[in-house]
Amino acid sequence: MPELPEVETVKRVLEPIVKGRKIVKIDVLRATIVNNQAETFVHYFENEQFLSISRIGKFLIFHLSNDKVLISHLRMEGKYIELLEKEENTKYARVVFHLDNDHKLCYDDSRSFGRMIMSNEKDYLKEKEIAKLGPEPFNVSTVDEIIKQVKKVSLPIKTALLSQEIITGLGNIYVDEVLFASGIHPLTPAKMITKQEWHKIIKESQRILNEAIEAGGSTIRSYHPGKDIDGNFQTSLKAYGRNGQKCVVCHTNMRFIKVNGRGTTFCPHCQIKHGAPIKIAIVGKIASGKSEVLNQFDKAGYLALSSDKIVHDLYANPDIQKQICKKLKMESAPDFLSALREHLKVKSNDLDKLEKYVHPLVRKEIENEFKKSHSNLLVAEVPLLFKAKMENMFDVIIGVDVSEEIQLQRLQIRDKEKSAFLKRINDVNNYFDDHRSELDFIIDNNQDLPTLANKVVSIINKVLDRLN
Ligand SMILES: [Zn+2]
Repeated sequence: MPELPEVETVKRVLEPIVKGRKIVKIDVLRATIVNNQAETFVHYFENEQFLSISRIGKFLIFHLSNDKVLISHLRMEGKYIELLEKEENTKYARVVFHLDNDHKLCYDDSRSFGRMIMSNEKDYLKEKEIAKLGPEPFNVSTVDEIIKQVKKVSLPIKTALLSQEIITGLGNIYVDEVLFASGIHPLTPAKMITKQEWHKIIKESQRILNEAIEAGGSTIRSYHPGKDIDGNFQTSLKAYGRNGQKCVVCHTNMRFIKVNGRGTTFCPHCQIKHGAPIKIAIVGKIASGKSEVLNQFDKAGYLALSSDKIVHDLYANPDIQKQICKKLKMESAPDFLSALREHLKVKSNDLDKLEKYVHPLVRKEIENEFKKSHSNLLVAEVPLLFKAKMENMFDVIIGVDVSEEIQLQRLQIRDKEKSAFLKRINDVNNYFDDHRSELDFIIDNNQDLPTLANKVVSIINKVLDRLN
């Protein structure tokens, strides 16, 4: 979707093309673009002359003769392309303006989400799409008005900025960039953003948008502001689209989450969530000592949850047992756990089915417990974190590593029948190695308990540092 800088580029490219030109004829090829008022639209604008183009947020405002105004929003894929009359229309031409110089202007929109609104000089600022827009960052002189406006807004700052009602002009790409540059976590409730931070947001918005406008807009999608202008510009994006890459400031892995459905990339180290605790996951292979790491957090007084225990409790729930029996086509038995173990021995493929059912329940339980807690570090041991795709609900991921030799030693201590089962799960746990680069801390647990305890304390201090 074009963002403000791209729309500004379109404006700058288009203005010399249409300025002073009279519209001799209009073809509406897709009526939805003009709000299903094709005839009225044609009649309204035919024979008028383009005087100038302005822009409000991501809206292009064409000013025409007789005080007429055409408001155009490109939405996802809309673009204007200038052609000679003798040339064929573009593939997705939706509205064609024939000009008085043997040229035509095709509005091309493969997905037809774009809109054109008929208006006039007196009313266009009052059109509902325009009226609800906040000021552009360039026009914000004081943040007091904004602070008043968001006083009761609990929505995440990312969502609030995307609404365009507080400030206008930041789309998905530049919101991520601005929040990264301002060191603000995208999930921070809008009402908790401080005055100083609003100053930062405005300043960074101006800087980033200006840089992008200068560069001619970013080119996330191939994009044609005007004929022969391919939009082949690059602006260096530091957050957007950099999921899994290292933060350019601190080298922490950038993380991807959904914020009200919008993909969002941020640095969990540079962008701290105010008033919100830090969520920590512990992963590691079987017998690596994850539980001991968890135990250290518990001892230090933080909320410490074990997924194994959560799963254990779930399996003890008769309703859940019933559901699992149904899903795996398994007979219910007095000793549910043994029956399940036996079942999985024979039908190992059912493990996937079982996990697909159980993982979301575990996730929900962790979320519930986190919500209830007042601890400023919320810790959960989640052995299958990556397999269960739960990594995005945590701010910090700690991996516990152990040499295979010590791992086997520790495994042999456990009872024999269990160990075969655990070993199979351990193979699944190779996920740990696949996701090594996504870990924020790796604890090498080949030494004794006091050494481990020291390592955990050092991590706790580093993480708490982020809250200050
Ligand atoms: Zn960072």
